[in-house]
Amino acid sequence: MITRYNYSLKNHNTFGIDVRAGKFIGLRSVKETGRLFEKRNYDPARILVLGAGSNILFTGDYDGLIIKPLFHGIIIEKSNTDTVTVTAEAGLEWDKFVEWAVKNELAGIENLSLIPGNVGAAPIQNIGAYGVEVSETITRVHTVRMDNGRARSFLNHECKFGYRESIFKHEMKGKFLITAVEFRLGKRTGSYRLSYGNLEERVKQKGEITLSTIREAVIDIRNEKLPDYKKLGNAGSFFKNPVIGRDSYLKIKDSYTDLPAWETADGRYKIAAAWLIEKDGWKGKTYGSAGVHANHALVLINHGNATGKEIMEMSEKIITSVKSKFNIELEREVNVF
Ligand code: FAD
Ligand code: NAP
Repeated sequence: MITRYNYSLKNHNTFGIDVRAGKFIGLRSVKETGRLFEKRNYDPARILVLGAGSNILFTGDYDGLIIKPLFHGIIIEKSNTDTVTVTAEAGLEWDKFVEWAVKNELAGIENLSLIPGNVGAAPIQNIGAYGVEVSETITRVHTVRMDNGRARSFLNHECKFGYRESIFKHEMKGKFLITAVEFRLGKRTGSYRLSYGNLEERVKQKGEITLSTIREAVIDIRNEKLPDYKKLGNAGSFFKNPVIGRDSYLKIKDSYTDLPAWETADGRYKIAAAWLIEKDGWKGKTYGSAGVHANHALVLINHGNATGKEIMEMSEKIITSVKSKFNIELEREVNVF
């Protein structure tokens, strides 16, 4: 266990916000995690579990306890004709896991290449990109209860996965530390998901369609489109794409015929939040040292010395402005502390 006091979090969040944690503990194993909480020395309401900090906005110092799982193993549980069941530990960098799967010719998560963050956070918002959600491959989420240190595993259906949603963002928020995630990955490659945008075309430019060429194409597209948080602090999409009812959709579509939207399985419509923000004139705007990225309106950025409060205030202004123009309430995807 690594313990630090009054610890700077600047290198532990991709916005690069310079705040401090009252106490910071890095945990080296699942056993150590159970032991820490068994003692019941800490109030779960004053604990924040941190992954890579790529979906977090700190608006000030965190005076409670920050816990960071550091264990990062990959364990193959079983293998049969078509699938391999594999457990990845919480502290493993997500993209290292994708890289491992692709190298071992295991299919299912290749479209999720280069998403920042650690494995432990992947189920929290059911990470997704290029037409794939991580919930499609998750079989179990292993956790430890933060009020008593007991282990509990959630089966896929118990996680209540939805679009950038899970039970860990709602009923179970702040109650469990995710120690590991179990995945079922495919051995039989060949049924890939390439219909998103021009992904298939980009993959074919690389040659034969394989897990490796899909991964390479996704990495290329992401590097071209998204700002590098190491150079320009950001947390990816700051807002979720709103999902609205058919009537509301048709009403807005009447005034804005170019509104990008996709019908969801339940007959509602997912609207591109980036389009709403851009149409409302926010793209490239600044607010103090905070800003909206000039090429990607969904990404709020730290131009260098932004405080979390500035970024938060800017997001509030965007929400209010989009609401008054389109009557759509944007919801933050980023977790604010
Ligand atoms: P953190 O930001 O550290 O934490 C996020 C939340 O999860 C917090 O509430 C935290 O308390 C909780 N948490 C973290 N670890 C645990 C744990 N072990 N147990 C319990 N709770 C935990 N997201 C997508 O879905 N798709 C994308 O394509 C995508 N692209 C991105 C691109 C960029 C450039 C950036 C910066 C972000 C992007 N994101 C994307 C958002 C982000 O990468 C994901 O949400 C990622 O899963 C966050 O992982 P993390 O380890 O950084 O979590
Ligand atoms: P993009 O390809 O420019 O598309 C803009 C939006 O349109 C996306 O949010 C996407 O929704 C939606 N979209 C596009 N084609 C779609 C289709 N065929 N069916 C349904 N929805 C479609 O988006 P981008 O910003 O460059 O991101 C590319 C992918 O990476 C997206 O999947 C995005 O979610 C993911 N990403 C996520 C984050 C994050 O922080 N959450 C950050 C960067 C990228 P979806 O978002 O639902 O896919």
